[in-house]
Amino acid sequence: MSVKKIYRTIFPIMSILLIWLPALAFAQQQPGAGQGLRQGAGQGQITLQNFLNFLLRPKILTMLVIAAVALVLLLTRKMDNRWKVPILVVSTFLYGVSANLGLKIFSGFAIHPSPICAFTKPILYGLRAPMLALLAVILFLTLVGPKLFCSYVCPVGAIQELIAMLADRLKIRRRKPSFRLSQTVRLLIFLAFVALSWTAVIHTINQGQVRARSIYDYINAFEGFKWNLQPALLDNLFHFLPLLLTLAFAFFTYRPYCYFVCPVGLFTNIIEQIAIFRVVKKKNACSDCQVCAVISPCPAVAEILKDAVLVPDCFACTVCTRGCNQDLLKFGIKGT
Ligand code: SF4
Ligand code: SF4
Repeated sequence: MSVKKIYRTIFPIMSILLIWLPALAFAQQQPGAGQGLRQGAGQGQITLQNFLNFLLRPKILTMLVIAAVALVLLLTRKMDNRWKVPILVVSTFLYGVSANLGLKIFSGFAIHPSPICAFTKPILYGLRAPMLALLAVILFLTLVGPKLFCSYVCPVGAIQELIAMLADRLKIRRRKPSFRLSQTVRLLIFLAFVALSWTAVIHTINQGQVRARSIYDYINAFEGFKWNLQPALLDNLFHFLPLLLTLAFAFFTYRPYCYFVCPVGLFTNIIEQIAIFRVVKKKNACSDCQVCAVISPCPAVAEILKDAVLVPDCFACTVCTRGCNQDLLKFGIKGT
C-alpha cells in the first residue's frame, strides 16, 4: 500500500476522532450547564429500539430509496436532467416543504433533526437516537458515495443544485468556489462552534426550559424550510435569511452553503475520500486536455485528474463525466 493510500485512509478517521468525538464526549460528561441543557433535549434516549424506530421512519427509508435510485442512474450513466430534476425536486419537497403542509401523509417527514442539528446538537446536548439515526444514514450514504446524501437527498443541497442548473439555463456565469478558502471558512466556523460549546454556550430560556444556542443557529439554512412565522418582523428576517442568502448566492457560485458553511459538508468531504463509488478516471488514457475541469462547476475535477490526496467535494452533478470528450471519466470504484 502506498504512503498516499495509507494517508488517505487514516486522515478521515483521525479527523473525526480528533474533532468530533472529544466534543461529543465532553457534552456527555459536562456537569452544570451541559446537564441542564441536556434536560431540555427531550426524549430519544439511545436504545436499540429507539434507534430502529427512527431508522424505520418514512423520512429515512425514502432517503435510502432516493439515494439508491440516484446511485444506479450514476453508475449506469443514465443520470441526465430528465432524472436529475425530478429527483432533486422530490428531495426538496419531501425533506424541506412537505412537513409544513400539515397533511397526515407527510407526518413522518418532520424537518427536525436537520443534518446540521444531527451534527451539532450531540455536541451541545449529548447524542440522542434521532440524531444517531440520521448521522448513521449520512455516514453510510457518504461511504457508499458519491456523497449520496448531499448530492441527491438533502433539501438545501438539492435546491442549490436546481438553482445551479437554472443559472446555467439563464447563462449566468458562475465562479467556482475556491476549495482552500471554503474549507478554511467552514472548518473555522466548526472549530468556533466547538470552542464556544466547550466554554461559553449561549443560553436562551424557551417556555421555561434552558436551551443551548450555537453559532449554527444563526446561519442554519435548514431553518428557512420551517414556515412557522415569528411574532416580530426582524425575527422572521433572521429566520429565513440564511436560506434566502444561500439561494441568491447559488446563482453565482456552486453550492455556496455546502462549500462554505455546512458542517456536514465538511465531514462528508473528509469521508468521501474513502467512498466506494466516486468519479474516477480511466488509467493512463487521459490526454490531460482539461475540458472536464474547465466546464465543471466544482473545484474537484482538477484534483481528481491529479489524483490528489484531499479532493474537494463532489456532488455527483455529472457535468464532468458527461463532458469528457473521450469518455474517460465515470462513476465507479477507484482503481478499476
Ligand atoms: S453540505 Fe450540508 S447543506 Fe450541503 S448538501 Fe450536504 S448536508 Fe446539505
Ligand atoms: S463536475 Fe464532476 S467532480 Fe464536480 S461535482 Fe460534478 S460530478 Fe463531481
